[in-house]
Amino acid sequence: MNDFLEIKEISYGEFPEISDLNPRFKPRGKKVKVVLDFLVPEIKKANAALPSIFMKLTKLLPSLERHQCGEHLLEDLKYHKKYRYTHQLEKITDIAHLMEHIIIDLQSKITGVDSCSGITCGYKNPYYRFDLFVECKDKKVGVFSALFAADLLKRLLGNKNLSTRYFGLLELVKYLYKDKSLLKRATELKPVASQISSKFGWKKSYSLSLLRKLADFGFLSLERPLAT
Ligand SMILES: [Zn+2]
Repeated sequence: MNDFLEIKEISYGEFPEISDLNPRFKPRGKKVKVVLDFLVPEIKKANAALPSIFMKLTKLLPSLERHQCGEHLLEDLKYHKKYRYTHQLEKITDIAHLMEHIIIDLQSKITGVDSCSGITCGYKNPYYRFDLFVECKDKKVGVFSALFAADLLKRLLGNKNLSTRYFGLLELVKYLYKDKSLLKRATELKPVASQISSKFGWKKSYSLSLLRKLADFGFLSLERPLAT
């Protein structure tokens, strides 16, 4: 599958230089910063319409519909006001902005915070690069949310449907974030997978594959034992 977008860099900090850009940012709040590139010309092949992508996303993340967005992006996508774009730049700007909202939604779901703000800044040069900033109290959750959001968007931009694995991953990451003792108790992957399987009624191979995916998305480190 062609990649339409690429994360160039993920970092974590306060980023005071951008705190004036969104009056809702909490003072001295930690944020995850994502530098995102759209790959040209691959993105031209990403012809899935954004309103249909948004519809699929709300099956996984229904609270997206309740976000307050200064630019009304989500309302526009919901009511199909932005179906055709005259310029590629408009479309990639909306995709970057949508990714910001996905990261906001994911991190709020996982950490349970009820207020979270973000901002998307486009570069003049190169025009296909964006900086996304999203408030997040946990670095690991911020990194996970960014990588998960990119993976999800690549799939949906490629006109594919949501796979059930996304639902499983989200359920698992919320559970592991809440019950950190499971990770602390475990010394290797297989016993953790067994516990997860009995908790959720999943096959052990499925639990193992989700845990490996969580490691790909930066939430777990499998190089050393899971105990921290
Ligand atoms: Zn917005």
